[in-house]
Amino acid sequence: MTESKCECGLAPVLRTALTFQNMGKRFWGCPNFLTGKPCKFFHFILGDKVIEGKARDLLLRLKDKQLRFQSENERLKKENNDLMKARADLIKGNDDDLMKENARLLVENGNLLHENGVLIAKSESLVKKIKHLEKKVKRSERICIRS
Ligand SMILES: [Zn+2]
Repeated sequence: MTESKCECGLAPVLRTALTFQNMGKRFWGCPNFLTGKPCKFFHFILGDKVIEGKARDLLLRLKDKQLRFQSENERLKKENNDLMKARADLIKGNDDDLMKENARLLVENGNLLHENGVLIAKSESLVKKIKHLEKKVKRSERICIRS
């Protein structure tokens, strides 16, 4: 290796080529390789031979499989994130609905308590009136008996 840092100023990483032409050859490359950064740092290790034949075919198939798994994994991660978000929204929505219902029930409860108080007062007033009337009746009965 001639340079100790790539064009990004980072320490290069050792990788293994998985292409048809260079299968199995190791190289020093930029850590930002495949991230879109335009760093051209790339040095093959001298003396590594290309893997050919059945081994190369197998490695190419494994590389394809790995890429498919990676893409499936990304899709599942996204799906999982969407589901987690939907779940959080659902829980939040339910909480909001329950808070509203609770507030409505509290108001209703307050109204019923007030109504109950009014009815108790009316009931007590009626009991007084009845007692008063009962006394009047007894008095008039006494008056009737005497006369
Ligand atoms: Zn770089």
